[in-house]
Amino acid sequence: MDCLFCKIIKGEIPAKLIYRDDYVVAFDDINPQAPHHKLIVPLKHIDTLNALHIEDNELIGHMMQTAKMLAKNLNIDEEGYRVVMNCNAGAGQTVFHIHLHLLGGRQMIWPPG
Ligand code: 5GP
Ligand code: ZN
Repeated sequence: MDCLFCKIIKGEIPAKLIYRDDYVVAFDDINPQAPHHKLIVPLKHIDTLNALHIEDNELIGHMMQTAKMLAKNLNIDEEGYRVVMNCNAGAGQTVFHIHLHLLGGRQMIWPPG
């Protein structure tokens, strides 16, 4: 499968990995939108949030727990951070392997663009 994030997971494309376990990897976004911008990516390939199954509930929960843990490690948990998942092109999704964006280190605005 020609998927950028599957290639990063397999080590075929380099990335600055900051975390890995049996279910997810996390690495620096190549085009950071904040002083801290990490991507939390499941090892399992799922195209979009629309393709999520009930059986993936634990995985999604684990992704959120990973975001929380990384935010604490990055020391942005108290000041605040944002966790985002874009679904499909209209929301800005460009890589069709689900991922959470973890953004922090600056004041966030609402609504997002
Ligand atoms: P999306 O737009 O799908 O929500 O998020 C995809 C993210 O992947 C973007 O923020 C983009 O900067 C990042 N990205 C795209 N290509 C690469 C890459 O080769 N390496 C890394 N580390 N991030 C990438
Ligand atoms: Zn993939």
